[in-house]
Amino acid sequence: MVKDGKIIYVGKEKEARAYANANTEIVDCKGQFVMPGFIEGHGHIHGLGSSLMNLNLMNAKNWDEIVNMVAEAVKKAKPGDWIIGRGWHQEKWNPSPAKNHLGYPYHEELDKVSPNNPVLLGHASGHSSYVNAKAMELANITDQTKNPAGGDIVKDKDGKIVGVLEETAQGLASMTYGAWLNKKTIEERKAEWMRGIQLAEEESLKSGVTSFQDAGSSFQQVEWMKELAQQGKLNIRHWLMVRAGNNSLRQNAQVFPIMNEENGFLTVKAIKVSLDGALGSYGAWLLESYEDRKEFYGQNTFPMDSLRKIAEFSWEKNLQLCVHAIGDRANRETINIFSEQIQKDKKKDHRWRVEHAQHVNPAEIPRFKQWNVIASMQSIHCTSDAPFVEKRLGAKRAEEGAYMWKAFLKEGVVVTNGTDVPVEKIDPFDCYYAAVTRKQKNGVPFYPNQKMTREEAIYSYTMANAYAAFEEKQKGSLELGKYADIVVLSNNLINCKEEDIKNTKVLMTFVGGKLKYSGNGKKSF
Ligand SMILES: [Zn+2]
Repeated sequence: MVKDGKIIYVGKEKEARAYANANTEIVDCKGQFVMPGFIEGHGHIHGLGSSLMNLNLMNAKNWDEIVNMVAEAVKKAKPGDWIIGRGWHQEKWNPSPAKNHLGYPYHEELDKVSPNNPVLLGHASGHSSYVNAKAMELANITDQTKNPAGGDIVKDKDGKIVGVLEETAQGLASMTYGAWLNKKTIEERKAEWMRGIQLAEEESLKSGVTSFQDAGSSFQQVEWMKELAQQGKLNIRHWLMVRAGNNSLRQNAQVFPIMNEENGFLTVKAIKVSLDGALGSYGAWLLESYEDRKEFYGQNTFPMDSLRKIAEFSWEKNLQLCVHAIGDRANRETINIFSEQIQKDKKKDHRWRVEHAQHVNPAEIPRFKQWNVIASMQSIHCTSDAPFVEKRLGAKRAEEGAYMWKAFLKEGVVVTNGTDVPVEKIDPFDCYYAAVTRKQKNGVPFYPNQKMTREEAIYSYTMANAYAAFEEKQKGSLELGKYADIVVLSNNLINCKEEDIKNTKVLMTFVGGKLKYSGNGKKSF
């Protein structure tokens, strides 16, 4: 039973009917599986929005297909317009490009189809970008350009630029693209952003996601989001981590905290820092070198002394610090920095988070517990990256330290869940399937001893995510007094056949008791 957006009764039908009056709307779920709305524990709401407006390369089978997609986009663009896309992954291409370096094709084919339009194509992980000659010309990238700290302009043995910019080197092209965007008026940019948010919210509701934890908003995006909240225009609940440098954080300190704006549609009281990159793009910062790139340890993408200052700032201001750490070195350094602050007051309920906590040295697992740090993980990354994890890390590191959900849980560490959308699709069922089976596309499970039980996986996607945002009293379960954020599903996720999990359909999504999506096309936003 729901009133004013909150749950006022949970239990038997007969008793529930006692609350009803002539104005009560009764929804018959016909015995289908009802559960709390999914909380996306780590995604990129603005990135999801733009991915729905730009080229989506996630399903491209190979490089040729991507070149064709760019060629089509060029036909529709004006000369000089940037062609933007995201989602390619060289490890997923079949066949791999004939002429390549580290699996990356050369940029010439893009130049042929797009001689006058700069092209910028983000890797699925977001940790590298593909550019064509026009983009490099505008960004002044030549064979002589030095690598920026924490980044790599990938060159072959002859010193020739391949076309891929890894980690911070992406900034060379994205800044030039940003300068082009900045020529648009603020109103144009805001309108485009709002269109993106609308599409991203629709995509979330369709997937049964009623709350979204964003891993990296700018202060400008926070301001726009607050406006939408105050106008009552948000359709799902947002929890944003702010990504900004030390100076900007201090200058804008008065923005924090934004708490439960408009009945819980917007909260901003967390900070995001990325300490390294991703494994697929050789950016994960490792203790020992890559198995398939000897003497290469990945990238430290944020200076440690700046992180230390941000940690101090977060501790003083009671903000949650969320550090992206994928490699075992990045995880170790993050816990080291966290512990410097946490030891000031071990009893403080800080709920600091390591985003991904993907590849850890076994020695780190008890340290997460010791310092009460949350492992903010994404099950789908495991099965999606599995085909190249052993290649990058070797079997021993893969077995002892890759996607150690169960080991973290056994240690008593809070493990959350999410998809990192648009790195992966926002689909909670694919992610849940990965959590409980660890099965790759070919059906082979990746170290299945680390599987979660179905109950653990549902908890990770609801209550654990709520806890990781200090919101466990408002959401994450169907209990008295909590928001009526509810989904009705076509399968029982606790006892349906394993292979049916992925076919689960969202029949209805309610946010604050309002029907926001229904599988038969009815929606109310
Ligand atoms: Zn992310």
